[in-house]
Amino acid sequence: MENFVFQNPTKLIFGKGMISHLNKEIPQGKRVMVTFGGGSVKKNGVYEQVKKALESFEVIEFWGIEANPTVETLRKAIQLGKEKGVDFLLAVGGGSVLDGTKLIAAGLLYEGDAWELVLQGRSASAVPMGTVLTLPATGSEMNSGAVISRKETAEKYPFYSKYPVFSILDPTVTFTLPIHQVACGIADTFVHVMEQYMTTPGQSRLMDRWAEGILHTLIEIAPDIIRKQDNYELMAEFMLCATMGLNGFIALGVRQDWATHMIGHELTALHGLTHGATLAIVLPGLLRTLREKKLAKLVQYGERIWGINKGSEVERAERAIEKTESFFKSLGLATRLNEVQIGEDTILEIEKRFNARKAAYGEDQDVTGTVARKILENCK
Ligand code: NAP
Ligand code: FE
Repeated sequence: MENFVFQNPTKLIFGKGMISHLNKEIPQGKRVMVTFGGGSVKKNGVYEQVKKALESFEVIEFWGIEANPTVETLRKAIQLGKEKGVDFLLAVGGGSVLDGTKLIAAGLLYEGDAWELVLQGRSASAVPMGTVLTLPATGSEMNSGAVISRKETAEKYPFYSKYPVFSILDPTVTFTLPIHQVACGIADTFVHVMEQYMTTPGQSRLMDRWAEGILHTLIEIAPDIIRKQDNYELMAEFMLCATMGLNGFIALGVRQDWATHMIGHELTALHGLTHGATLAIVLPGLLRTLREKKLAKLVQYGERIWGINKGSEVERAERAIEKTESFFKSLGLATRLNEVQIGEDTILEIEKRFNARKAAYGEDQDVTGTVARKILENCK
């Protein structure tokens, strides 16, 4: 196990009707900017609940944070927030609204352009923010990460700032999610766990078991929630899986990969594909490409998650990758680039981009432009 320092300060407020707790969590007297996406919260009653809970606050609303939030939109929120002297942010929506609000929170205390912050990769200062999450997937409600896009140049990069002070998770608000978003959320959660689990074996038994627990739970509930997303108990499990999958708890003392995400971000930046949908395509191809290196862990994963215990190590690893791909297919997701009409030109463009920035991703920093091309060739 590697040395680590761990502190996750986010207060989690979980369950039916918990949005009403908002007024206790935001200090009285704050000038609050509430940020939203495209309007789903007006259809499922979330907006009304938030408005009611914030009656005693001076509230400024900012609408229109899009899926894969862009700096172009977020700059407008930063400008408005500066004009109005905003000193608390409340993000209400999916991962995109939460991520975008993390950049707004940092941007409010930054004099330069917000894209500079993204390129710096992190900000040490930010206005405090809370969240009301409506889509289980990203873990953004309990981590310090965000992924920000720039429309002008079709770029998308991770950015790290402060953790939310609190996050309210009411599973009933997820009942209105489109099934495709549920599928993408399951895939995103699954791949978050795999990015932290599918690395060198033997680093931590506890982290392995914890990660496997989340994978098992997802596989168990997926067939039901993918048909109908209005079962409270199942959506509560899903929400908690997503939060626990990327709040640092399964990464204690272990190395992490994240190459699937970095390649997936390029597919979104270049083609607008939904985040989770990119991961369902990239992960199987990445595992096939790096099968030899990840062999022992793939065998462990195959045995513990999919019950594969016959055949040579290579056969078992291959079978485990097939099972992973079938799982994504069972969610109704494409698992090959040709299914989403992405071809060789994109593969070459991603290789070029990775080379230009001297990319070296993965737990051993060996996923370079050339390796990314091989991975994408295996995703065809
Ligand atoms: P999202 O982009 O926030 O939302 C997708 C769509 O779902 C939006 O159109 C949204 O509509 C709708 N929606 C959200 N909640 C809904 C509800 N309860 N009912 C009906 N519709 C609802 O999706 P996401 O997967 O949560 O976030 C994806 C972004 O997060 C990507 O940019 C990805 O790269 C990033 N990400 C971040 C992290 C991290 O650690 N921070 C990790 C992985 C991925 P409205 O806009 O109308 O609300
Ligand atoms: Fe993700």
